[in-house]
Amino acid sequence: MLNKELEISKHEELTNKSDDSTCNNSNVIGCNQDLANNSNIAMKHSYTFEEAFEIFSLPFFKLLRTAHEVHIKYWDEQAVQISDILSVKTGGCSEDCAYCAQSVRNGNKMPRQPMVDIDTVIKKAKEAKERGASRFCMSTAGRCLSNPIEFDKICKMVKAVHDLGMETCVTIGFLTNEQAKKLKESGLDYYNHNVDTSPEFYGNIVTTRTIQDRINTIEIVQNAGINVCSGGIVGMGETNKDRVKMLVLLSNLKTPPRCVPLNKLVKIPGTRVDDSHPIDDFDFIRLIALARILMPKSYVKIAAGRNTLSESTQALCMFAGANALFSGEKLLTVENIKDGKDINLFNKLNIVLEKKSE
Ligand code: SF4
Repeated sequence: MLNKELEISKHEELTNKSDDSTCNNSNVIGCNQDLANNSNIAMKHSYTFEEAFEIFSLPFFKLLRTAHEVHIKYWDEQAVQISDILSVKTGGCSEDCAYCAQSVRNGNKMPRQPMVDIDTVIKKAKEAKERGASRFCMSTAGRCLSNPIEFDKICKMVKAVHDLGMETCVTIGFLTNEQAKKLKESGLDYYNHNVDTSPEFYGNIVTTRTIQDRINTIEIVQNAGINVCSGGIVGMGETNKDRVKMLVLLSNLKTPPRCVPLNKLVKIPGTRVDDSHPIDDFDFIRLIALARILMPKSYVKIAAGRNTLSESTQALCMFAGANALFSGEKLLTVENIKDGKDINLFNKLNIVLEKKSE
């Protein structure tokens, strides 16, 4: 048998199997008997790394078709959710994330900026809303926000953005139960806390915390009734296996994140990963497709690095299940899509922008 035939028969063994791993409970996230019947993929609520990697390695068009079938089962295929993000406190971070210009431990010394005032946040959020964003994210540099005056200001920012009729998201590092409760009371809809990469590769990227620390905070956020936004960054020297392991970790959390942002590393000179090998665009599309299959009810977001993808690649990502994007010319410290380009692409693809969910 030719190598290729061997490969395909191996994939079919996985996708045609109807063993006890097939789930009949349609209330379980990721579980869809109809889909299993239609596409021969055995949908289940948890995947092993081996199963996920076999799906990731499916023939490209079969993977895309399967992911798209999952996508249209749960989502409007023409709708995309748009977020904007503002760094409300920048630089001077004691953590050592290898990719970040805001870490004092990296070579790139980004100037420190104290917390912006609430009027600046309101102005930026209104501008984002006019561009079609339904969610506004606010980010602070640092391991956590232990200063009560600054934390109180964040809560006021959340309330102000919430009052504009937008979904709110913050990313301020580790949280206590008490802080999570206060954020929820202020009107917080989403908390971003990325796991960044696989558990095995994590120590190459961050040493000042563990991936388990991140998972603990995710649980605190979920216990407070706030949606979690958690994904990672690819192109930092990790392998495809690491990328798949990261998605398996997220999909097997007690409650998978409601939003999964996938960032293509934007290399910043002076950071520890500024010479790493970029991810191949087709592998990035495969990753989006796998995220859609593993987490059917989650938003899958193309986050940083979208400006390095051609329009055709972005379209394939959306076909594979990406249904959330960042707008705005800046994503914290890196460039994003220039104004006007998104509108052109959305028009070409007949994309409509999702309104704030009720
Ligand atoms: S990613 Fe966040 S925690 Fe890590 S160095 Fe940058 S600002 Fe600090």
